[in-house]
Amino acid sequence: MPDAYESQNVFAKILRGEIPSHKIYEDETTMAFMDIMPAADGHALVIPKAAARTIIDIEPSDLSAVTATVQKVARAALSAFGADGITIQQFSEAAGGQEVFHLHFHVIPRKTGDHLRPLPRDFADHALLAEQAKALRSMLMEAQ
Ligand code: AMP
Repeated sequence: MPDAYESQNVFAKILRGEIPSHKIYEDETTMAFMDIMPAADGHALVIPKAAARTIIDIEPSDLSAVTATVQKVARAALSAFGADGITIQQFSEAAGGQEVFHLHFHVIPRKTGDHLRPLPRDFADHALLAEQAKALRSMLMEAQ
């Protein structure tokens, strides 16, 4: 039996506005922001607003909303960063590689022949994250 949802996780704090994030998108049920230790430049995270721990416990309707936002962010990343492809990652439970226990999808822009940065990763420069978030927000606005 998996553990219950823990409301003090870092993404729950971001959702409540208790800690800052480089936000790129928000609607009624989802939010997206930059990953502060990116696997590649432009790495974003998409989360549900619902208190879901993993892909196992989320309600299917909330999961659908999250995947729709993942697609929006992936399309925006392709244009904003001139990416050649996108890697989507989702880790559920520690055994699956999860470190933050609020469901999230990684949206990682890729260039042909590149390699994802290995773990543990460095913190990105905040000015760079702000610039990338701005580029993604303007692509998302154009797409509306
Ligand atoms: P995982 O749970 O393994 O799928 O990965 C958690 C991800 O959250 C990692 O890529 C971290 O770099 C990222 N992360 C951790 N804390 C924050 C934060 N405060 N803001 C944005 N991203 C974060």
